[in-house]
Amino acid sequence: MSPIHPAERAPPDADQGILPGLRRILGSASPRACHGALVQTARLLEEEFGFSILMAAEIAPGPAIVWQSDGPLRENGPALRAWLQRASQHPGRCLAFGDAAAGMVMTGAPGPGAAMIALVADAILLPQKLESAMRDVAEFTARHLHHLRTGEENMRRRQRLDAEGARDAALVRASADLVWEAEGDGIIHVTHVFHDRRDLARLIEGRALRDIPAGALDLQRSAEKGQILRAQRIALPGWDEPLFLTACPSPGTSAPFPLRGTIATAPDNAAEKLTIDARTLETILASHRREEQLRRETETMMLGLRVLLGEAPFREKLEQLARHLAGAIDCDDVRLILLRPGEDPRLVLPDAMAADARLLGQIDALGQQRLLTLLPAASADTARLRENLAMRDGDLVLIALPSAAERYYLLCRARRSLNPDDHGVAERISLLLQQAFLLQTDQKRMIHTAKLSALGQMSTGIAHELRQPLNAISIAAQNIELMVSLGKAGPELLKEKTDRIMAQIDRACKVMDRMRRFGRRTAGEYKPAPLAAIARSARSLMDPLVLSSGIAIDIDIADDLKAVADELEIEQVLVNLIQNAADARDAKPGGRIRIWSEDDPDDPGALRLHVDDNGPGFPPDVLAHALDAFFTTKPEGKGTGLGLSIAHSILREHGGRILVGNGALGGGRITLVLRRPAAQVLPFVSRSPERDGAP
Ligand code: ADP
Repeated sequence: MSPIHPAERAPPDADQGILPGLRRILGSASPRACHGALVQTARLLEEEFGFSILMAAEIAPGPAIVWQSDGPLRENGPALRAWLQRASQHPGRCLAFGDAAAGMVMTGAPGPGAAMIALVADAILLPQKLESAMRDVAEFTARHLHHLRTGEENMRRRQRLDAEGARDAALVRASADLVWEAEGDGIIHVTHVFHDRRDLARLIEGRALRDIPAGALDLQRSAEKGQILRAQRIALPGWDEPLFLTACPSPGTSAPFPLRGTIATAPDNAAEKLTIDARTLETILASHRREEQLRRETETMMLGLRVLLGEAPFREKLEQLARHLAGAIDCDDVRLILLRPGEDPRLVLPDAMAADARLLGQIDALGQQRLLTLLPAASADTARLRENLAMRDGDLVLIALPSAAERYYLLCRARRSLNPDDHGVAERISLLLQQAFLLQTDQKRMIHTAKLSALGQMSTGIAHELRQPLNAISIAAQNIELMVSLGKAGPELLKEKTDRIMAQIDRACKVMDRMRRFGRRTAGEYKPAPLAAIARSARSLMDPLVLSSGIAIDIDIADDLKAVADELEIEQVLVNLIQNAADARDAKPGGRIRIWSEDDPDDPGALRLHVDDNGPGFPPDVLAHALDAFFTTKPEGKGTGLGLSIAHSILREHGGRILVGNGALGGGRITLVLRRPAAQVLPFVSRSPERDGAP
């Protein structure tokens, strides 16, 4: 992209265009969506102002470049980091970056630790409008990121407080007045005070174990040996109340043992009744740890279930669930690999990253045996994988996720060494991911079944359409036979007849090819697809119906208009909509269908494809349920009630949606909202009429 001098264009008022779009995208409230929105916004800024833009997000805890154009701004490591450091100290101020760029950092909240966003453009002197648009975008996004992050932090803090509360309650029940800890030096520090015994805490805090007289026992020596002490009566000078001390070494430690214990007061004669001892304390703490872990796991499960059953497209679900699973066992840097029989292994997450298929293939051999395989950081295999998949240093964890005929692998980096509990957690949470695969398989199967049923419905028409060329072939062949028997079959005549036969065979093949193509299973591959061609293909599939019912189908879509789509799936949706429109018309003559497109009035990144008809339209009670599965008003044997509901899920998987209503032809209007490919995203020029023609 060549930089354009600011004076050559009059940049629009960015406030009008960028922020509403960004707000809408960020509204979906996932950090990934934030990054997507940033990338999209950076592109818009570039296209509109003609400057190369670099965008970094979440500078705390570490910068991540989320967008960088091909212009002169290349990420240059230390220099960029130094600039980010400096700019983050002056949020909002436009600062020079090197001698050819400038930008600013905005923070999501005052104080350290807040999310930050940096934007840099390739000019020292930025046009004021660009500068203020950049500032707005950065500030809005930083605030949003901060909001997301603090939401998560608050949840974690609440969980911690809940957990501590539960432990305290257990100890109070166990009649302890103090909980204490001592490192190897034997100096006591009080960590919890119950029953308002602050006086006791003051008495104990800072004392050395060796200075506490305890019957015949030497507390310090016992502690050094790592012995457990149960309700040991202790005496403190000037303190008459009977005190009982328990202590036990922290599990998994060695001498000199850090100790933990309780002190309880009890009347002399109740000493035997004092139930708490060191073991009880350990049991309480251990069961408490377990409880906390289970609670965390349950919460992760619930969150996961919400994702699984939510409305998001499969890809987004997959990404969120994979992160959940990795997070639950304290791993990060998630990669998801798909191995499908007969296909090259490929990286599903992150989707933009290319990876060596041979190397991915080896993952199968590494991870096939168990659900969870640890790949130690030091091994050569791990190093190769890490390098190839751009993963951070450390042990890698490989989790096998078999699903129907395919096999997914989740690869992530361990942030600590894993324990047997982690295996259990991974096993349980991975079920959610597997469930997501199954749901997707089911959905694909349902889409395919619906397609086959549509083909079934078309079969009468197809038979009719095939009969014509077959008849023509048959007549031509009979003619040849007759000519031969009469001895009149000259070369010219034979050629004319065989040409006719070939043309008819060609026609029949085309019909068959169309059907075969339509009947294929879709791959769910979303790429820029030409909408006019898809609409024409759907129309020709419906030719027999169109011919028999006399419906005219107009297609009014620019030839170069593209949407990010799976061609076969959108064609299937259109075939269904045409069928519905024809059914609604109920064979009345003069039927009309118009398939046309327009810009999405709300979203420059989307477009709308309408299918209008001149049937009776949707009455309100049908409108309310039209997208529900199994809702149909058609007679038995004709309607399944699945057409629109399947169209709805197809569109959702496309990251779009479907709108049902009535249109300009007086009948129904179904609208498909689809994503534009990045290259066709509209500039964020305000399209309100009073601004048209403004300089
Ligand atoms: P089916 O076609 O099997 O009934 P759909 O989900 O495709 O299932 O449609 C559900 C219902 O919506 C139809 O039964 C019909 O009542 C209504 N409908 C669909 N398309 C139209 C249309 N173009 N005009 C009027 N009503 C429609």
